[in-house]
Amino acid sequence: MCGIIGVTGIPDAARLAYLGLYSLQHRGQESAGIVAVDGAGVARSHRGMGLVSDIFAEPVLAGLAGDVAVGHTRYSTAGSSVLANAQPMLAGYREGPLALAHNGNLTNAVQLRADLVTKGSIFQSSSDSEVLVHLIARSEAREPEDQILDALERVEGAYSLVITIGRTLYAIVDGRGFRPLVLGRLGRGWVVASETCALDIIGATPCREVEPGEFLRLHGDELDELPRLPVKPSHRCIFELVYFSRPDSTVFHRSVDRVRRALGRELAREHPASGADCVFSVPDSSNAMALGYSEATGIKLEHALIRNHYVGRTFIHPAQAGRTAKVKIKFNPVREVLAGKKVVVVDDSIVRGTTSRALVQLIRQAGATEVHFRVASPPITGPCYYGIDTPTKGELIGASHSIAQIREHLGVDSLGYLSLEGMLRAAGGEPAEFCHACFSGDYPTEIPDDLERARHAAPLLAAISS
Ligand code: AMP
Repeated sequence: MCGIIGVTGIPDAARLAYLGLYSLQHRGQESAGIVAVDGAGVARSHRGMGLVSDIFAEPVLAGLAGDVAVGHTRYSTAGSSVLANAQPMLAGYREGPLALAHNGNLTNAVQLRADLVTKGSIFQSSSDSEVLVHLIARSEAREPEDQILDALERVEGAYSLVITIGRTLYAIVDGRGFRPLVLGRLGRGWVVASETCALDIIGATPCREVEPGEFLRLHGDELDELPRLPVKPSHRCIFELVYFSRPDSTVFHRSVDRVRRALGRELAREHPASGADCVFSVPDSSNAMALGYSEATGIKLEHALIRNHYVGRTFIHPAQAGRTAKVKIKFNPVREVLAGKKVVVVDDSIVRGTTSRALVQLIRQAGATEVHFRVASPPITGPCYYGIDTPTKGELIGASHSIAQIREHLGVDSLGYLSLEGMLRAAGGEPAEFCHACFSGDYPTEIPDDLERARHAAPLLAAISS
């Protein structure tokens, strides 16, 4: 899970990248980094573990001179959580410094890496993205864009990329378009970012999305559309709309907020809760869904759970041990709203079931007499191999338990999940346009056996981390 940004043709590009990363913080909270390239083609990098606000102090930004910059926020989906895996990657390269920031997961990275190591490549990190850097460097093509193309021909899976080679910025989305990327204009320069909310914060005007297979070259105020990568059937990640993206963003030509409201309305149609006194969300990702549910059923919308905003997403903490305890740190019920009430709780998804179970206990302790749990997506039955952090199949409650068993595990009076069809209807457009593999098991690429093992392997490079 990552957020990426690229800026070119604008003085102090690193400062804009920094602000953009602030808006993309929800896409990854383990590490962040910026590489800036100055007028002489000198690249400077700063990367750190933690939140954007902790990593970039004023003197650090002042040192990142230049009108070209790429930035990244990361939560590991491939490779462990160490500084060596923080991005952007920066390498000395025959065409000038090469910086790369990647959102997505390469499904054949384990095999490619093994081949490269056999041929003598020395890796600095355990992240799948470094494979791309090596493949670009090994290309025998003459032009940088052909070197990138050579590399992309070898990789499979999901990639939205911002790359700088020398002072030129490239923006690329894989042929299936798993992850979003949007192009914006600011003054005479360009900004590309994972979501429109990153353009909004710096005052850039959204121009259009970078479409599946697009390969853009941005240099100063020039924009060149290079030949597209081989076209594949689109597989936009539906989970971006359900959970991952911010509701104030436009993703895959859709307002995330509008889709989430529609998800709530579909959920209400499929799983009404007659006789309930109120409905509320598990803030913040399901706020718009609870609103849609309330609109469709007429059940009063309440704010019954208050979220402490000074804690990261509980799920985002890799250690399972801390998760249940963190629910209490993160959410507190409003007793006056809940006491003596029959309530409907709307959440966007259930992953392991640990958050939901702990929340239900809190809600009951606060005096609710009936708890009806509604989930605005189907049961998650398989991991994502394309860039969303989901645990192994064994940890996914939807993979091993029936809905009746999950209801019992959560301790709720009723449980309703939105159907796959309902979710796709709410997303609008063509159902075939989406990847919903984590719900349906319908993976659009081959999943090599070694991938699952590699995702959860022990850190390879712990010794060089700091
Ligand atoms: P769980 O207790 O594991 O079922 O967590 C469910 C909660 O995690 C829901 O409220 C979701 O909003 C949130 N969630 C779903 N997917 C993810 C993810 N990939 N990363 C972080 N949080 C998630």
